[in-house]
Amino acid sequence: MPDYPPEPWRVKMVEPIRTTTREYREQVIREAGWNPCLLRADDVHVDLFTDSGTNAMSDRQWSALLRGDEAYAGARSFYVLEQAVRAHYGYEHVIPVHQGRGGENILSRCLLRPGTHVAANMYFPSTRAHQELNGATFHDVIIDEAHDPADEHPFKGNIDLNKLRAVVNEVGADAIPYVSIAATVNMAGGQPISIANLTEVCDFAHAHGIPVFLDAARAVENAWLVRQREPGWADRSVTDILDALCAPTDGAVMSAKKDSLANIGGWLGFRDPELAEQARGLALLYEGLHTYGGMAGRDMEAIAQGIVESVDEDHIRNRVAQVEYLGARLHAEGVPIVQPVGGHCVCVDAATALPHIPRTEFPGQTLAAATYVDAGVRGVERGAITAGRDPRTGTNRFPPLELLRLAIPRRVYTRGHIDHVADSLIRLHADRARIVHGLAFTHEPRHLRFFQARFSPTTGRSIFAN
Ligand SMILES: *Cc1c(COP(=O)(O)O)cnc(C)c1O
Repeated sequence: MPDYPPEPWRVKMVEPIRTTTREYREQVIREAGWNPCLLRADDVHVDLFTDSGTNAMSDRQWSALLRGDEAYAGARSFYVLEQAVRAHYGYEHVIPVHQGRGGENILSRCLLRPGTHVAANMYFPSTRAHQELNGATFHDVIIDEAHDPADEHPFKGNIDLNKLRAVVNEVGADAIPYVSIAATVNMAGGQPISIANLTEVCDFAHAHGIPVFLDAARAVENAWLVRQREPGWADRSVTDILDALCAPTDGAVMSAKKDSLANIGGWLGFRDPELAEQARGLALLYEGLHTYGGMAGRDMEAIAQGIVESVDEDHIRNRVAQVEYLGARLHAEGVPIVQPVGGHCVCVDAATALPHIPRTEFPGQTLAAATYVDAGVRGVERGAITAGRDPRTGTNRFPPLELLRLAIPRRVYTRGHIDHVADSLIRLHADRARIVHGLAFTHEPRHLRFFQARFSPTTGRSIFAN
């Protein structure tokens, strides 16, 4: 097993969670249309649905809330946030937004029109949805290795420069308002991009007059993985590496609900003052005044303090090690997972785990439902349901990866919980022949369908054999 450094915090307040019976869970998942997203959180024992906004705040963050300045315009808390972002991410112009997708909406509206194109390392659901809603055509230019769960490439978030070059040659640089880079790549399993690749991509894009925007939600985790995996960076501080990740980019969209250890919030960062001014104008319409962006002053204080804690090396070492430990336990017992384990989640390769469930019956969603019923553990499908339909043809997208993602909230669960999850999944996997039926839609929403979709088993009343 890999190192499991002790948690660099102790517990000061607890939140009880309850256990339930398997029968009860099968009843409530049926009522929830076999979609764990539609469960009540109280019915979940260990909730690995997302690491977004589910972080435990520190005593310092809680006390920072009391410093919140709730002035409508020019609140002190805005300047505190602005200073923290400038110091750690290096962007001169900072515009608060209520969460990441608020920033995605504004950036997409500023730069995208029908007929434009965006190239990215795989995709994030809300990011691509906003890009497509504004008329852009999306191009995934991630390296092929990212689509192979078993490939052990250390930087499966890297962009394939030949793919990017091909898009530029095909549509012309003028039709590409920006390149969208995520660090880490959530949909590939929290996979990092290397500094070398990111720098090369920025050089190439800039040579063609194309700006590069960073999705910085998990850039600190990316920085830690760079330190562990990229030659030449082992002795550098996480702060330095984060700086190196942001430096070549033209701006960033941030969901502070991830790395920054907050429960809500985000920001946009720009270097270009004119673009920043345009974004402030739209922020007024969609988020709030440019000095609060839909957040309370106290939220901005909590994020500013969270940013400082997020680059603390004891914190980030323990955070990523906990994720690696869960991955290593599953891998050791033959549960097929995406390799190598990324920064925030362990992804079970559902297509391999359930080869008897065809892709059209959604093995990822089926495994998510089965994991809840068997273990009281909630994960989320990251496969065909999440990928949605192609906006042009209306047909289902079937991405190569068909995953059950187990995302680990920061500072919330202890090793005992992680061992419980590992034990339950190992048992379920050994017994997977009991999962006999896949799922079919009974309700399919138009946008980001995975959140509210409902299903029924393709045959009978259950996905399990009786
Ligand atoms: C969460 C997330 C977003 C969207 O942010 P929200 O705060 O959920 O609106 C965008 N990109 C990535 C990589 C994310 O993880």
